[in-house]
Amino acid sequence: MADITMIKNYLVQADGQLGTDELALKFAALLDLLKEWNEKFNLTAITDDREVIIKHFIDSIVLVKPNKSQSWQTIIDIGTGAGFPGLPLAIIFPEKQLFLSDANAKKVTFLKHVRESLGLKNVTILHGRSEDLSNSKQLRESFDLAVMRALAAFPIALELSSGLVKPGGQVMYYASLKQAAEITNDMKCFKELGCALAGKYDYVLPEDMGNHTIISVNKLWKTPFKYPRAYGAMKKKPL
Ligand code: SAH
Repeated sequence: MADITMIKNYLVQADGQLGTDELALKFAALLDLLKEWNEKFNLTAITDDREVIIKHFIDSIVLVKPNKSQSWQTIIDIGTGAGFPGLPLAIIFPEKQLFLSDANAKKVTFLKHVRESLGLKNVTILHGRSEDLSNSKQLRESFDLAVMRALAAFPIALELSSGLVKPGGQVMYYASLKQAAEITNDMKCFKELGCALAGKYDYVLPEDMGNHTIISVNKLWKTPFKYPRAYGAMKKKPL
């Protein structure tokens, strides 16, 4: 069984309001499931408890820091993998709707199991490539926020996500410091996709476990229907 006190301490450190027994127990259950399923499914390369807590759980909830208002109701995590950042966000925001999407069937099986075990009623799991999800009439421009961690290079990630977000909504992207330095307002992808760079938020994880930047983007206008292109075309000629 995971060390609940350790989890609680890191949650408090991230945000005082998150230091409750209820939340710590949910994260402990998630840690146990991740370790149990990792043996069969190879879900994450990180297996040490403290590292999972910091590099997956705390890293996921950092996302709320640059957003004081947090007014989004519907959030889609694109390429969520084993559920990051989507699952921790679903745990800390029971009143918001989290849509976790991934193309990989094994990851989706794991996510469904976690949803049932933890009783996360605010989670919907979407199995499919985000290019296809983005072209579905039902989902197009329907989310308040799209989040992505370790999915693709920035212009590709923005092309994959922007069609899913409502005008007036936001996109948030986890970047390395090097990637973040290369992202500027005048990049072609912003204008082309109806978006604008809103800000960059640098942060350092506890115990020196890394420093990254969250890029936030405002979606201003409708994204032209020709985007996203097929994955091959995006990779060959990123915007
Ligand atoms: N966000 C997670 C996982 C990153 S690995 C984390 O940070 O830990 C990238 C994940 O994206 C993989 O699970 C892969 O299956 C998924 N993926 C890659 N390209 C995708 C696409 N075009 N549509 C949907 N899922 C995709």
